[in-house]
Amino acid sequence: MNEEYDVVIVGTGVAGLYCALQFPDSMRVCIFTKQKAEEANSFLAQGGICVLRGEDDFPDYYEDTMRAGHYKNNPKTVELVLRSSNHVVRDLIRYGVQFQRNPDGTLAYTREGAHSKPRILYHQDITGHEICSVLLQRVRECSHITLKEHTTLLDLLTDGTTCGGVVVETSEHKIQTISAPFVVLACGGIGGLFQNSTSFPHMTGDALAIAIQYHIHMKDLNYIQIHPTALYTQEKGRRFLISESVRGEGALLLNKAGQRFTDELQPRDLLSQAIFKQMELDKSDHVFEDLTPLGERTILEHFPNIFDACLKAGYDARKEPVPVAPAQHYLMGGIAVDFASRTSMRGLYACGETSCNGIHGKNRLASNSLLESIVFAKRAADDIIFGVHPTETTEFSVNFEAYQNIDKLASQYASLVLNEIERWNHHE
Ligand SMILES: Cc1cc2nc3c(=O)[nH]c(=O)nc-3n(C[C@H](O)[C@H](O)[C@H](O)COP(=O)(O)OP(=O)(O)OC[C@H]3O[C@@H](n4cnc5c(N)ncnc54)[C@H](O)[C@@H]3O)c2cc1C
Repeated sequence: MNEEYDVVIVGTGVAGLYCALQFPDSMRVCIFTKQKAEEANSFLAQGGICVLRGEDDFPDYYEDTMRAGHYKNNPKTVELVLRSSNHVVRDLIRYGVQFQRNPDGTLAYTREGAHSKPRILYHQDITGHEICSVLLQRVRECSHITLKEHTTLLDLLTDGTTCGGVVVETSEHKIQTISAPFVVLACGGIGGLFQNSTSFPHMTGDALAIAIQYHIHMKDLNYIQIHPTALYTQEKGRRFLISESVRGEGALLLNKAGQRFTDELQPRDLLSQAIFKQMELDKSDHVFEDLTPLGERTILEHFPNIFDACLKAGYDARKEPVPVAPAQHYLMGGIAVDFASRTSMRGLYACGETSCNGIHGKNRLASNSLLESIVFAKRAADDIIFGVHPTETTEFSVNFEAYQNIDKLASQYASLVLNEIERWNHHE
């Protein structure tokens, strides 16, 4: 079976949802996801979304992003994203996203590690949920957008140079094709390939594996971010994040003896290293984060969900430090894209965590990724809508036999990604 659309978008995180909303209702758009629409890492984002605080903030924000990225960032991308941020925020507010405001109605800003000043917009400690629920609601309201859940990307429809759609496993476990002259991969990261990660486990880098298989250009696949402070528990599964903005608001890191051992606001990679070193010295698998300097009111008003998660794990963050340890969090590298989110395969675009446009360099500055995902999702849509595209048609053949054993395919894809990461490690 085949279905036809003008655009197919894979993934219902912030990148996929925002991209879908950019198309006029004269275009038929299909957006699909492996699980439920809300089960995307974007919905888990806690801290917030960065915004340029006026032109005077540009040099500092630019330097914070570059320094966190060890100056391996693409300077042009950094400039593009920062200068797009005011427009993005205005757009989100127009869609109906509610950011925290001061009593006088102006936007409130918080601070996270490696930021020289507060420039992060937030909604309690569930900013991603607020942004993405609003976008998802808008998507559901659009009659020209078809949303499919429990539909898994298995492959591209391609002759090796041009992409003309996708092969999927449907929610009824049937293999079918969805053809479209434009495909946008917004499939998130690779946290599901790690034992300790803050990510949903179904984020297994499938799009990366498929891209590797077709020799689509990749970039910096070994640039993997470890978040310094995930709540430490003995339980298996996704690690609950203690957002960096908790440290930005004054939380301290303590060793086994209850003493501070490092600067809590240094970039994530350096802080993770400091924590690993302290864990070794303490012969422990965690350190402690003390939220009590924030005071009960800030804990309960700004971080109610983090407070609840700690309480469920047996810690009252108002009164006692909570155990934390680093966990895999984010992939800075990915499918290489240009300023229009185009990959090296004609008709195929990528945006969000799956892609690498060079904004983050070797280490992502906190709260830059929701912003970057939105900026490049829009650029993909703009190129699809306004770009000049070849008109010749290509025939694609599909060998359905190749998709009979989905578990085997998934494990092949996981190996492809892990091997490629290893190759990039040696490449450095
Ligand atoms: C706990 C946590 C907290 C975070 N906090 C912040 C923050 O405060 N600020 C910030 O800027 N960033 C934050 N981030 C990072 C941010 O959430 C991600 O960078 C961003 O969500 C990436 O969005 P995305 O749309 O690219 O991917 P995701 O939101 O991860 O969505 C990926 C989508 O692709 C789908 N998918 C994957 N594979 C397939 C397949 N084979 N077939 C079909 N569908 C597939 C998934 O089901 C999902 O719908 C946080 C991340 C985590 C994990």
